[in-house]
Amino acid sequence: MKRIAVLTSGGDSPGMNPAIRAVVRTAVAHGVEVFGVQRGYQGLIDGAIEEMSARSVSGIIHHGGTILRTARCKEFMTAEGRTKAAERLRGLGIEGLVVIGGDGSYRGAYDLWEEQQIACVGIPGTIDNDIGGTEYTIGFDTALNTAMEGIDRLRDTAASHDRIFFVEVMGRHSGFIAMYSGLAGGAEAILAPENVTNIPALVEDLREMSRRGKTSMIVVVAEGDDAGNAFTIADKVAEISEFKDVRVSVLGHVQRGGTPTAFDRVLALRMGAAAVEALLAGASGVMIVMENNHIGQRPLQDAWNTCNCYDPDLFRVSRLLSV
Ligand code: ADP
Repeated sequence: MKRIAVLTSGGDSPGMNPAIRAVVRTAVAHGVEVFGVQRGYQGLIDGAIEEMSARSVSGIIHHGGTILRTARCKEFMTAEGRTKAAERLRGLGIEGLVVIGGDGSYRGAYDLWEEQQIACVGIPGTIDNDIGGTEYTIGFDTALNTAMEGIDRLRDTAASHDRIFFVEVMGRHSGFIAMYSGLAGGAEAILAPENVTNIPALVEDLREMSRRGKTSMIVVVAEGDDAGNAFTIADKVAEISEFKDVRVSVLGHVQRGGTPTAFDRVLALRMGAAAVEALLAGASGVMIVMENNHIGQRPLQDAWNTCNCYDPDLFRVSRLLSV
């Protein structure tokens, strides 16, 4: 394989840049020409593909976002769109593609490989940590630390005013950020989609903590919690309890940006190097994963057919520690 390409697709995550840097430099180190595709699959269809060099990725290791930009592309979900994309790649003599993104992007990569025999290798890049087959995805650690810092700051004001804060963090289908940032920030309660939220029981817990002398409390809510968003839950708590002076803070998209942590950078560079070496060794239809601190490969389908869930015992531990 003499020419490969790399793209970022779907939701962005901090650490995509160090992953791009590792892909480009590993390719260059192995004497392989490497091309960057702008705006994910849309750029593939449009032919927004340019050769990169070791120097094109200088000075990006500490930047959030992705220098290649990212996009969502409906056309790529059709066989015609994927045929156009494959023709663009073949026209440039590109035989292999590294896709940095989430499970949606992997479905596209899987189809491109199955239908068009373009060798594809995925790298998990999403803040949600919800890709099956890998213990960690690039961007989760950074987003988690951003959420924790937000919780720490809100705790200062909550404590000063003897208030209850409901802090909404990202995670439409996954409670990873909520659970880990809640534990790290010492939250009094953590509401995540993996556990059924019972608001009267939550009120009872808050009362019990109040009886034990807590004058301010933090409730972390994943945006996809089954009981609704943080505003809905805070309103219901205020409606049925004596806790009227509640505040809501939605941390939002700040969790997607920012300087990637050392953990995410090292994960990104290990996965980026492994993706290129997998392609050069003839692999396709696989994603790079981290299992027990080892970098390995798994079929792309594991991303959507299996689940990376946090240890359910963490929920019990979080309750133990909020006495
Ligand atoms: P993520 O990769 O972060 O999960 P999306 O689910 O938005 O993000 O997927 C990114 C892109 O991948 C989509 O815009 C589309 O181009 C492509 N894609 C997603 N699902 C499929 C699918 N089932 N078949 C083909 N392409 C897909």
